[in-house]
Amino acid sequence: LTAASGGGIVAYADSARAEEAPEPPPRKKKVVVLGTGWAGTSFLKNLDSSRYEVKVISPRNYFAFTPLLPSVTCGTVEARSVVEPIRRMFEKKGKDVAYYEAECFKIDPTKKAVHCRSAVGTNLDGNGDFMVDYDYLVVALGATVNTFNTPGVMEHCHFLKEVEDAQKIRKSVIDCFERASIPNISEEEKRKILHFVIIGGGPTGVEFAAELHDFLVEDLVKLYPAIEQFVKITIIQSGEHILNTFDQRIAVFAESKFQRDGIELSTGFRVIKVSDDSITVKCKSSGVETLVPYGMAVWSAGIGTRPVITDFMSQVGQGKRRALATNEWLRVPECDSVYAIGDCSSISQRKIMEDISTIFKVADKDNSGTLTLKEINDVLEDICIRYPQVELYMKSMHMVDIADLIKGGVGDSNKESMVVNIEEFKKALSHVDSQVKTVPATAQVAAQQGYYLADCFNKKDHCVEHPEGPLRLTGSGEGHHNFRPFRYKHLGQFAPLGGEQAAAELPGDWVSMGHSTQWLWYSVYASR
Ligand code: FAD
Ligand code: MG
Ligand code: MG
Ligand code: MG
Ligand code: MG
Repeated sequence: LTAASGGGIVAYADSARAEEAPEPPPRKKKVVVLGTGWAGTSFLKNLDSSRYEVKVISPRNYFAFTPLLPSVTCGTVEARSVVEPIRRMFEKKGKDVAYYEAECFKIDPTKKAVHCRSAVGTNLDGNGDFMVDYDYLVVALGATVNTFNTPGVMEHCHFLKEVEDAQKIRKSVIDCFERASIPNISEEEKRKILHFVIIGGGPTGVEFAAELHDFLVEDLVKLYPAIEQFVKITIIQSGEHILNTFDQRIAVFAESKFQRDGIELSTGFRVIKVSDDSITVKCKSSGVETLVPYGMAVWSAGIGTRPVITDFMSQVGQGKRRALATNEWLRVPECDSVYAIGDCSSISQRKIMEDISTIFKVADKDNSGTLTLKEINDVLEDICIRYPQVELYMKSMHMVDIADLIKGGVGDSNKESMVVNIEEFKKALSHVDSQVKTVPATAQVAAQQGYYLADCFNKKDHCVEHPEGPLRLTGSGEGHHNFRPFRYKHLGQFAPLGGEQAAAELPGDWVSMGHSTQWLWYSVYASR
């Protein structure tokens, strides 16, 4: 036998083996997404669904464009225009995902499964409960209304969270006008029935008040001229100003616009009880309680936690918090493979002081026990990625560079030649963590988080193969992927104030108020 033929036999045997046992394709990992709101749909739209076996669970088979909900309350926009059916969305985007119209009532992180209940009636066995297991879970359940346990609110107030809420409000406004038009109703009674009260002076309450005002002056007064004089709108706000998350100039602009419109602002009042025909308010400064008769009330005073989230937080040892805590990569740190995005979650930003000794050690390449400016500059980018509060702090103190910050630790030495030891380094950075910012519960944040997380999922394999990345300084065990932490990009906020007046706040201290603002803002929205 020649070597060549021997080689031939070996080669033949090899290829025969390969034919006998073709490599099975690796099982696709199961991704389960809870919720089809801003966060969930943004994740799903951006996820490469061919890499995973994707299942989506939500009791609503549509996505609701919440910024337009206040316009639905008064018919400016039709309900069907602000929703997008979820199955249509998947089909349009060519996504291979399974959808179940059901509510998740329990997350079991040890079994890696979620317990669900059908939202469309029960099955033949008499109950529609089922279980879905996951490799990765994305919790995007949003938030619920928060009554702060104020008595009577659940029973008597409207909310403005869902499309159905907006439709109910619309019907209720008309009902009030019809009720006040019935003969033999006293003037006092008419005033009561036509008193529309909004509790909460945040963006939603303010926008609803503006819509309602336009609806009244443009439409309803023509249809009900006899009772026009009895109509009143009041906003009750516990803080000193409405729109207190906006720039002060916008709050002042909105308040004076509302005053001209005859919308009453009761600031500095807290609602302590609601009955079927009156609201009890307490003046925060004097403590005096007053009864406010009303016809219809809309409660828009903050968001609360869904029971399934509260239960999950207690299971993983997060205790009593308002939202599920994640790390900066949007993962729930206490358990395996669970991520949370949007209003149901909040990011716990790692404090730099927790890692200060590690940072010092990594930066001190020559092991001298001190850091030079060059040594600090070499790790500065990593530090700023991992701890955005460093940049925010330097900005707030009008510091030009890291040398200014470090100088605080060593006194006024020469920038270039300065050297710091660990104590001086700690002292210089000791106030930086005061600048840790929480991200707001908005659609902007939810959508950006969904997009970011899908991006991480799409690149997961790559990151396992190339774990080195810009995160050499992490102390949180996230070293297996080289992704930068989530960073929120604020694109500004917008408050329509009625009568085509609006106020917008854009990044870079840019504030715009008045007539054309609305169109400016819509163009910003459109460009996103
Ligand atoms: P959501 O969008 O609320 O989605 C939660 C999803 O979870 C829903 O699909 C829900 O059906 C589903 N779900 C609930 N319970 C369960 C369960 N047990 N099991 C499974 N699924 C469940 N933000 C802005 O940035 N700009 C604005 O102009 C703006 N205007 C707003 C106007 C109004 C009237 C409202 C109410 C909100 C507005 N917001 C705005 C805030 C914005 O809507 C929220 O921040 C955003 O919806 C949060 O997204 P999310 O995905 O976390 O929650
Ligand atoms: Mg969602
Ligand atoms: Mg939504
Ligand atoms: Mg959040
Ligand atoms: Mg050194």
